[in-house]
Order: sequence, then structure tokens, then C-alpha cells
Amino acid sequence: MEPTLQDTLDQLRIEAEGKITAAASSADLSSVEVEYLGRKGRITELLRSIGKLPSEERPLFGQLANKVRADLTVLLDERTANLQSGESAQALQSESLDVTLPGRSVRLGRRHILSATIDRIKKVFIGMGFQVAEGPELEHYRYNFDALNYPEDHPAMDAQMSFYVTKDLLMRTQTTALQGRVMENQAPPMRICTVGRCFRYDAVDATHSHTFHQVDCFAIDEGISMANLKSTLAQFSREMFGEDTRVRFRPDFFPFVQPGAEWSISCFVCKGKGCSLCKQSGWIELGGAGMIHPNILKRFDIDAEKYTGFAFGMGIERTAMVQYGIDDLRLFLENDLRFLRQF
Ligand SMILES: [Zn+2]
Repeated sequence: MEPTLQDTLDQLRIEAEGKITAAASSADLSSVEVEYLGRKGRITELLRSIGKLPSEERPLFGQLANKVRADLTVLLDERTANLQSGESAQALQSESLDVTLPGRSVRLGRRHILSATIDRIKKVFIGMGFQVAEGPELEHYRYNFDALNYPEDHPAMDAQMSFYVTKDLLMRTQTTALQGRVMENQAPPMRICTVGRCFRYDAVDATHSHTFHQVDCFAIDEGISMANLKSTLAQFSREMFGEDTRVRFRPDFFPFVQPGAEWSISCFVCKGKGCSLCKQSGWIELGGAGMIHPNILKRFDIDAEKYTGFAFGMGIERTAMVQYGIDDLRLFLENDLRFLRQF
């Protein structure tokens, strides 16, 4: 049996009431109003079809339909008033300014741990009378290798190990490259310290990087000996790592020094007893050192009979890693604030 107009009217009333109750905003309510009571609304359309009814049924149905219409209108008005007051309270709240709330603090930046380490190292050497000098990162082959007494077949000079820009220009592989530039232009006595970025063709892992920082110091004067070198490094180590730090030399080879040594400091964590930082050895290796090779002095017309000099270097990353117990070199370059904020 086909539903009667009255059944349809009941159905529409139930639907509309449900939608009005469920509406979440006054905008939802107006679309319900349009859908059922608007000019082309479903209840309005139904009223228009009243002509299909037998004439005796028309008045009753008209009354019923108008009642539904009126009831829904009342319901809509109530619900609209309700929702609107909630909405305006919400708007008021979101737009209001609570002057009693604490202010938002401005997040301050800080120096990168490498910059801070560089500053500390420079401060110590400046305190010992070293003059800070700077050289270019893009360096001539002759300063990076030739002037430093590298034998022609030294593996460090291999194109595979360095970033060559032209045959003669490369990204410096060591800050030691500055020595020749200084010796060319200054006469002894001199005490020079240089800190800067260096580059090597290295795959990046926890202990290697294509970009790293080095400090290189050298001194040339009459009567300079290994004793001056050791006392300079001992003083530096005490100021960087603590009053009771000791320095150890072990023979090593670098083309630009003779004799050459690898220098270590006594472990400042276990005081030499052995721990994970010093790999149970009690010593932490920091860099290379030695007496400047006479060939280098001669090359720059410095009287090697009269003058002697020492030179030493160390990695900045290595120094910071040892000092703060950082186990991965990549952390320095990743700009991860969770890491950087710790220092
Ligand atoms: Zn230790």
C-alpha cells in the first residue's frame, strides 16, 4: 500500500526533529530549515500536493501539516538561540585577552658547541702569548703539502683523499697549511695559533666527516726545544681538562716535524685508572706534535742553525667529543636542537 500523505508528513517530522536535535551549529540549523520549511522545502512541497486529496480530507491534513510546520519552527528557534549563545560565548572567549596569563618567553639561541670549544681553545693559547692567524679554506697545493715537507708519494696528497678544485687548488686538508703563509711574511720569533675548517674526502660515519675543524699552533725562536712543546701542551691540557691533567708523548711521523710525536692527555674521568672513555688505557689521544722540520725553516729562509720551532695540532670535534662524552661526530653537523641545547 502506498504511504498516505499523512504517513509522509509524520516521516518528515521525525526526520526534521532528529536533524534539529543533532545540529552542531547555527549554520547546520539553517540548512535543516531550508531543507524542510524553505520555499522548496520538503514539507512545503507536501502542503502543495494537498490538491491530490479528496476535498473532505483537505482541511484536516492542512491543519496537521501547519501544526508540524509550526512545531518545527518553534523547535528550530529554540535550538538556534541555544547554539548561538554558546557560539558567541566561545567567540568571546577566543578573542578575549587574559592579561593575568604569564608571558611567552623568547627562546634564546646559544653558541654551537664547536664554536664554544674553539673559543675556549683560542682563549687558552692567546693567554700563552700565541697570536691568532687565519688562512683561506681554499688553499694552494704548495701551502697544503709542498711547504710542509710532504714526500712526493705521500698518500695524503692522493687526489682520492682531498677535494681538488683545480690541479693547484684544493680545500685545505689541514690548518697546518697556514705555516708556510706565515713564514713567508714574518721573521722569527713567532707564536701562531690558527683554528679553522678542514676538508677531506671521507665518508661520513660516527668518527669521520668530510668537514672538520682543527687547531694548529707553532712557535719559532732561538733555543726552542721539545721541553717547550711539552710544557705548552701540558699547560693547555690543564686549562682545558683540569689541573691534574698530564701529557704523554709517543713517537709518531708527520712530514712537517722531526722528531714527531702523538700526544695524549691522562684521562680526566678515571684519572688514569682506565674507563670506557679512555678505552681502559688511562690516556686519551688528542693530536700530533713535534719539532718543525729544518727543511721547512730552510725553505722560508729561516736560519735553521739559529732557530728552532715546535708545532702541534688537534681536532676540535675530537676535543669536544672527549670533553663532553659525545660518541658520534655527525651530531655536530645535524643541527638537532635536542642535542645542541645540552651545551
Ligand atoms: Zn679513563
